Amino acid sequence: MIQTEFPVDTEVLRSRIIETARSMNTQRLNVNKSGNVSARCRAEGGALAFLITPSGVPYDDLTPEDISRVTRLPTDEWRDEGPLLPSSEWRLHAAVYESKPEVRAIVHTHSPKATAVSCLESGIPPFHYMVAMSGAAEIPCAPYATFGTEALAESVTGALRHCRVCLMAHHGVLATGSGLPGAFALAVETENLASMYLDLLQLGDVRLLPEDEEFEKRPDGMPLWKDVSGKNVSCTEKVKVLDENYRELRESVSAALDDAVLIGCRADDIRTILKEMISEVESSYPDARPEKEK
Ligand SMILES: [Zn+2]
Repeated sequence: MIQTEFPVDTEVLRSRIIETARSMNTQRLNVNKSGNVSARCRAEGGALAFLITPSGVPYDDLTPEDISRVTRLPTDEWRDEGPLLPSSEWRLHAAVYESKPEVRAIVHTHSPKATAVSCLESGIPPFHYMVAMSGAAEIPCAPYATFGTEALAESVTGALRHCRVCLMAHHGVLATGSGLPGAFALAVETENLASMYLDLLQLGDVRLLPEDEEFEKRPDGMPLWKDVSGKNVSCTEKVKVLDENYRELRESVSAALDDAVLIGCRADDIRTILKEMISEVESSYPDARPEKEK
C-alpha cells in the first residue's frame, strides 16, 4: 500500500525539519538543544513512520543524514534508523501520530513564556480570539509526567484530544500541524499568547471573551469562523485572514508536487489528482464552492 497522502522521506523533507529546528532557536523559542521537531513520512506497507531530530546534536551542526527515522513494525514494536539515536522524546511524537491521523508535523519547544505558564499548571484561557488557533476554546495544559516516558505521552495525547496544541506542565509546548510551517506557526503563536497572558496576570484581573464567543469547529478541529451576521466565513475569505494557513497550504502542495515528480508522476496525472482534490474540498465545505454553482 502506498500512502500517497504522506510525503516521501527525502533530503528535502529532512532539510525542512532541520530548518524548522534552527528557526526555534532564531525565534527564541528554544536555547541550545532543547525541543525537537518531527514530520510524518511514507513507509512500506502503510506502516506509521516519522522523521525526527536526533538526540544531543546542536541544530546548527545537523545534516539531512543525521535525522532519525522511527517506524512502527507489524509487531507494534518501534524501530529507529539512522546514525544517531532519535530525540529522547520520540515516544511523545509517536503517540501523537498514533492518536491523531491528521497530524503530519510536530514542533515541541521549551519556549520560556509558555513554559512559565505551564509551571502554574494552567492552560491559556480565551482572553484573546487568537486562542481559537488551538482549535479549542482554550489551550489546555497536560498534567506533569517525567520526560521521555509513556506516562507523558498519554498525558499529552489526552490534552490534545480536542485541539492542535497544548502546554505540558513544568515542561513546555507541543504544537501539531498538517505541515511543518503550520506546526511551527502554532508554537510561535502559543508563545506570543503566553507572553500576553503572563503580563495580564501581573495586572490582576484577566477578562475572558464571552462564552458564546466559542467557535464552532470544522471536522479537523480548526475553528469555523463566522462574520458579524453569523454567516460562515468562506474558505477564500479565511485564507485572506489567516495568512499562515495560506502559506502552509502552498508549502504542503508544493512538497506533495515535489514528491509526485520524484516518483515519476506525469503532469497529466498530477492535474487529474489536483482536480479531484478541489472537487472533494467543494463537496466537504459548501462555502468553498464557486459562487455560480451555489
Ligand atoms: Zn521537552
